[in-house]
Amino acid sequence: MQKGLLIILSGPSGVGKGTVRAKLMQDESLNLCYSISMTTRGIRPGEENGREYYFVSREEFEKQVQEGNLLEHAEFVGNYYGTPKSKVEELREQGKNVLLEIEINGAQTVMEKCPDAVSIFLVPPSMEALEARIRGRSTENEETIQKRLAKARGELTKSGLYKFTVLNDSVDNAAAAIARIIRSQIAKEN
Ligand code: ADP
Ligand code: 5GP
Repeated sequence: MQKGLLIILSGPSGVGKGTVRAKLMQDESLNLCYSISMTTRGIRPGEENGREYYFVSREEFEKQVQEGNLLEHAEFVGNYYGTPKSKVEELREQGKNVLLEIEINGAQTVMEKCPDAVSIFLVPPSMEALEARIRGRSTENEETIQKRLAKARGELTKSGLYKFTVLNDSVDNAAAAIARIIRSQIAKEN
């Protein structure tokens, strides 16, 4: 059986990664599996442990790093985030295309470890649109919003690190563009 693709989806906080991912997951023909990350950040209303993330303490996270259980990990605005390694490999061996939704530093680690990873950077139509989306989500306080926006300005200069850049003007357009990329990569592998 053909091993599944490793797909990295990055982009600034609030650009719409989670929303576009949910749309892509509805398309069964893409054979996608989402890799659930581990994080030390607090759980948001509506989130569930083991669905959006595995929410763990700093001590537990550090233990996982020391034991070598994470494919990559990074700190983002004061919290740790990381990708559990064994699950990704297991799913790819089963032929699933595994989607990682991770920030830039972790993405660079994965690109180095897995040069064949399909890396995609999602960009907003403008900084104003990005700010409106972060605020519209109403999940962060003002201080965190400001930190995430400042971080986004830096991140947007680094889209060149990725194999593909996709504009999230509408969720349907962005999901369709990513689906095309995934299909063309699957065709290339066969
Ligand atoms: P991320 O996962 O990148 O942090 P989210 O998926 O949580 O971002 O999206 C942030 C907010 O922007 C959400 O309220 C979402 O509904 C909204 N959003 C996402 N994509 C679009 C879009 N194309 N146009 C307008 N709003 C969007
Ligand atoms: P949020 O707190 O908004 O859910 O995520 C903050 C940032 O962390 C986002 O850019 C998200 O993609 C990233 N992120 C989520 N999981 C991981 C992970 O496992 N590793 C890394 N490096 N970044 C992650």
